[in-house]
Amino acid sequence: EVVDLGLRWVPGFSSLGPAFFTELRPTPLPEPYWVGRNLSMAMELGLDADRFESDDALAAFTGNARVAGTRTLATVYSGHQFGVWAGQLGDGRAILLGETEGGLEVQLKGSGLTPYSRMGDGRAVLRSSIREFLCSEAMNALGIPTTRALCVTGSDAPVRREEIETSAVVTRVAPTFIRFGHFEHFAARERDEELRALADYVIDRYYPACRTTDRFNGNAYAALLEAVSERTAALLAQWQAVGFCHGVMNTDNMSILGLTIDYGPFQFLDGFDPRHICNHSDTSGRYAYNQQPNVAYWNLFCLAQALLPLVGDQEIAVAALESYKTIFPDEYEARMRAKLGLPDRSDADRPLIEQLLKLLAQEKVDYPIFWRRLSRVVAGDNPDTVRDLFIDRDGFDAWFRSFTERHADISPAKAADLMLASNPKFVLRNHLGQQAIEASQRKDHSGVATLLALLESPFEEHAGHEDFAGFPPDWASTIEISCSS
Ligand code: AMP
Ligand code: MG
Ligand code: MG
Repeated sequence: EVVDLGLRWVPGFSSLGPAFFTELRPTPLPEPYWVGRNLSMAMELGLDADRFESDDALAAFTGNARVAGTRTLATVYSGHQFGVWAGQLGDGRAILLGETEGGLEVQLKGSGLTPYSRMGDGRAVLRSSIREFLCSEAMNALGIPTTRALCVTGSDAPVRREEIETSAVVTRVAPTFIRFGHFEHFAARERDEELRALADYVIDRYYPACRTTDRFNGNAYAALLEAVSERTAALLAQWQAVGFCHGVMNTDNMSILGLTIDYGPFQFLDGFDPRHICNHSDTSGRYAYNQQPNVAYWNLFCLAQALLPLVGDQEIAVAALESYKTIFPDEYEARMRAKLGLPDRSDADRPLIEQLLKLLAQEKVDYPIFWRRLSRVVAGDNPDTVRDLFIDRDGFDAWFRSFTERHADISPAKAADLMLASNPKFVLRNHLGQQAIEASQRKDHSGVATLLALLESPFEEHAGHEDFAGFPPDWASTIEISCSS
């Protein structure tokens, strides 16, 4: 069966040639149903709303029908997992539908076996597909670079994980899903020609300024490395500021565009614990919250190593990573200043931020609630609403005095606006996702839609939805999410 979604497709990634992928078809799933649909993504794609609701779309986005004009494929990559070279990985359960005329790749995740499935079954479970769907859109609405999600479809076909679960497919969208691992793959095999073709493709499509740079004596590959490094630095600053833990920062989960990619055991911090580990499989804490900026830098070294044959000089490659060390802290401080309602920088800001983080960590104060309440205090609420979050009242009072002094010359209205637009009221905490997932497992998908609507505008008040903005229940800390999804 072939369906026409009214989208126009271009060759995109497939123009790289067969060394980069295997052409194949998704494996159908029985009796699919809709779990979640994201209309704003459909509009950005140019997918007509009526068509999006059709059975044709349901079949297409489950992988049960071919989409006219597409050439479906799985791409090959390698990577470092938990600090160790893992060799060939690849799209083990993701199939690229194609690239739209508007320059967006559309990928089905959970759509069946590929030559890169290794020990896996090519499937994704409902639980993790809902988490990816919601978090992609949550991050996007927070202004954090990310792959996007169009929809989730489900099927009662069983999948075995720790227990038996049901299948789902999440349709993901991004300008490209190319990862650091794609480069590592061809570098490890000393396939310089493919390595160069891939780098040229990425530069021409996504980093054209690298061609005309006068940095590194006009070395476009060094310029690419620097640009990726700088985007990654900015991304990590945003993750740290919002309290996002990725959970599996392997090099195959690092986007060449600096996007958040491959949502697995991710978590937004509840209580502020810098050493928090969200991935139940990460026994050593390699990917703990406070390790993320260093891990990203380590991953960039792997990318630099892979690009070395093109860059041509070790010293230049290392120099191309140098700006990470200033961009990350500068961007992080800028994000934290916005959270603190400070429109301009001052030397007083770094100690103000550091003292606050120390205080929050001491008592594992709820991170999103602290920031939202502080914003409301600047907007006129009683300061006790924030003070009451701390047992160490003296500690808080001392910090709050410095905060107030810093605000002496700033218009409270302006500061409050900045803070309420920088500190979300609604964050995809684990327990919120879990509640929507459990309802969905009982075939009530309304919770997914409700959460999506809140997370699409997380800075708005959404009166009547206070339950979604409160402290996590006690059972939230017992949720265990591992790599298995
Ligand atoms: P991840 O930990 O999700 O980033 O996945 C690491 C590698 O394992 C990638 O190559 C995935 O495509 C592959 N993979 C993960 N889960 C499955 C699965 N259920 N079936 C096949 N391959 C998988
Ligand atoms: Mg992955
Ligand atoms: Mg994954």
